[in-house]
Amino acid sequence: MGHMLGDTVMDVLVRRQRMRGAATLWLPGLDHAGLATQVEVRRRLQRQGVRLEELPREQAVHEVELWKEEHERRIVEQTRAAGFSVDWSRYRYTMDAGSVRATREVFVRLHADGLVYRGERMVNWDPRLRTAISDLEVIHREEDGELVYLRYPWADGSPGGLEVATVRPETIFGDVAVAVHPSDERYRPFLGREVVVPLTDRKVPVIEDAAIDPEFGAGALKVTPRHDEVDHEVYQRHPTLPMPPDILDAGGRLTSDWVPAEFRGMDRDEARTKTLEALEKAGLLLRREPYRHSVARSERSDAVIEPRLSVQWFVRMRPLALPVIEAVRRGEIRIHPERWEREFLHWLEEIQDWCISRQVFWGHAIPVYYCRHCHREVASVDPPAKCDRCSSADLEPDPDVLDTWFTSWLWPFVTLGWPERTADLDHYYPTNVLVTGRDIMFFWVARMMMSGYYFRNARPFSDVYFTGMLRDEQGRRMSKHLGNSPDPLELVRQRGADAVRFALVFPNPTDEDGMFGPAALDGGRNFLTKVWNLVRFTLAFIPDGTAPPEGPPALPAASALENRWVLSRYRRAREELDRALTEYRITPAAAVLYDFLWHDLADRYVEIAKEALLGHRGETAQREARETLLFVVERSLRLLHPFVPHVTEELWHALPHPDTLLALAPWPRADEAPSDPVAEVEMEPVLETVRLLRNLRSEEKVPLDAAPKAWVRPAGPEVARVLSAEKATVVRLVRLGSLELLDERAEPPAGTGRRVAVFGECFLERPVASGATAEALRRERAKLVALLEKNRSRLADPGFRARAPPEVVREAEEKATELQDRVQRIDEHLKEDGASPEASP
Ligand SMILES: [Zn+2]
Repeated sequence: MGHMLGDTVMDVLVRRQRMRGAATLWLPGLDHAGLATQVEVRRRLQRQGVRLEELPREQAVHEVELWKEEHERRIVEQTRAAGFSVDWSRYRYTMDAGSVRATREVFVRLHADGLVYRGERMVNWDPRLRTAISDLEVIHREEDGELVYLRYPWADGSPGGLEVATVRPETIFGDVAVAVHPSDERYRPFLGREVVVPLTDRKVPVIEDAAIDPEFGAGALKVTPRHDEVDHEVYQRHPTLPMPPDILDAGGRLTSDWVPAEFRGMDRDEARTKTLEALEKAGLLLRREPYRHSVARSERSDAVIEPRLSVQWFVRMRPLALPVIEAVRRGEIRIHPERWEREFLHWLEEIQDWCISRQVFWGHAIPVYYCRHCHREVASVDPPAKCDRCSSADLEPDPDVLDTWFTSWLWPFVTLGWPERTADLDHYYPTNVLVTGRDIMFFWVARMMMSGYYFRNARPFSDVYFTGMLRDEQGRRMSKHLGNSPDPLELVRQRGADAVRFALVFPNPTDEDGMFGPAALDGGRNFLTKVWNLVRFTLAFIPDGTAPPEGPPALPAASALENRWVLSRYRRAREELDRALTEYRITPAAAVLYDFLWHDLADRYVEIAKEALLGHRGETAQREARETLLFVVERSLRLLHPFVPHVTEELWHALPHPDTLLALAPWPRADEAPSDPVAEVEMEPVLETVRLLRNLRSEEKVPLDAAPKAWVRPAGPEVARVLSAEKATVVRLVRLGSLELLDERAEPPAGTGRRVAVFGECFLERPVASGATAEALRRERAKLVALLEKNRSRLADPGFRARAPPEVVREAEEKATELQDRVQRIDEHLKEDGASPEASP
């Protein structure tokens, strides 16, 4: 569903630009998702009792390819079903021939430029998947663990020893020293002495290093350079220390002759238990304490990450990041919503080198070959026949593959044909906009910018739009892991593509973590039904053979107020929509259309213009209303098209239309319809009067078939003039017996309900209150009071105010005011009738 959200936003942007006449290109494609795919396939085979690692390589690759094809089919089908207007003729895959070539080319060039290097570094090792992973694929979480205090006996046999605290007692076998802080007076006398690593006979020195936190444990720490980042740094500052062998193998099992034989081959969890038992027996375990600390886990397998010193390939990131930092700072690349810019820049400023080698088989091979003869490493796009130093033909390819993102970061130009110089590349690069979830801000977006500047010397896109993460109706983030993300194809089948699309962009903001579920889908469907009915209604008044509207009807000044008003409202909606989309405010853009189509056009205009449309106001009025309606409806469908292409296309073809697809029809011109602020101002008191009198009607419980009298005392002569001219409209819409305008000093009629607004006061004749009415009012009052109390106690809860989004709090506050208001009016009503507000016993 995350992809559906991003793609809907993208489709809105692309379709609008296409209608504006731009040469749009939305290039679809598929990522081979190396490690992620291999993990999924591994899981699937495991359920069948097969271990992926035990299959012959060819068969394993075949299994992964099968999986990829299934998913590709599904993704393509989803994209088609949702109506996303991608260019299928340019479909690409990150493992197609062009991507293979480009990936190798990029590696070789970065290698030649000194930006790719092989080195022994501390990496995040996933012992379950047996591969290195990047920092971004590691999740840090606070977890409960245990801190154990061990005694390292003095090497010279004197009694006692040093107290050393650790959370990983199974790694003592890899120790090369015990370190203390230089200013820690407690340990000054012991510096230079030696201790024995427990359970072994190996002697290690006591050293000082400023990286040691004297507050941690007893202030003395074991130094295990191959299995801890800080320890490795300590080791590098003390050149006399030996480098130990790896005491944990790729699967996280104890290994090497530094480990006592009885522990070798145990996995790290078992080894921890057994080591502690042995330490206790040897009297070297002083005490154990519960300890809460940050634990690093693999995003893909959930295994606890093993920091491991190993030889891997890295990309030097700082030189690549600098042009991006500058570009974002000077606005050459804009980030929407802007609030993500700081985090984005911060990450780039603190960037670490990128570990790009993976010990899996699904991915692009690292294009490096090692000479068995002279040990030279040769990076080459095409496999070399011989060593370029000693000419030996005995070359061994690097066994690892590249991180998936090492191909994906080239997407904006590889898909246009790079490294070839193609017409597409000249025409479409730099591109305009990237839409994606902010969860891959660093994995993908930042790196595409880096590769863009490095290999094309230009930004890959001018704008990046980050969508929020979708949440289900219980507020939980949608994820594959939780299984709470509905199947998009199934949703499209049940609800229709357009209802799903609209529900994704409205009413929850696309750039925040919005709720998505049945309620939003109902909203989308209801809106489309409203539009559908609006067009059906319109069709009833369009005679056969009517030409498509070329422009708005030329209305004389004397034309009905509602015609001039709706044209002006249409123009305003069009302006606001365009402004919102230009500024990448997708949900506000949808809201403009929703409000205009639903409220102004379908509710207000249609209701008011009905008399004229039916011919009850003469032929001229009928023609003007019909032309106005047709123009506004036809143009509104164009404006709505990028959001809901299927329904609008279908409806548009039912109306008189030019001989083309709506998808290719021109976007309505900005100045096409007249702006008529006078009509908009004049219409306000009319609409407001109708609204207030309708509310009064329902509150006063006027029976449906009754036609009560009403009065308005206008606030000034202008309002009086408009209301007097539009009296018939008000009478008809509120189903009144009569409407009278009162002058300023006239006493309001007795026995009426009253409402005050900016434009004046409204009064509505009240039905004679019978005993039954009073009783009904009391019952309603009791109901309202209960609701009001519930609402108030919610607002009084500080937890609610702290946790709920501001708009929810505001809504609750408004609700409370409204309930309070209604209770008060019932009280007034009952008082006037001489009844008591409390329910009679
Ligand atoms: Zn050689």
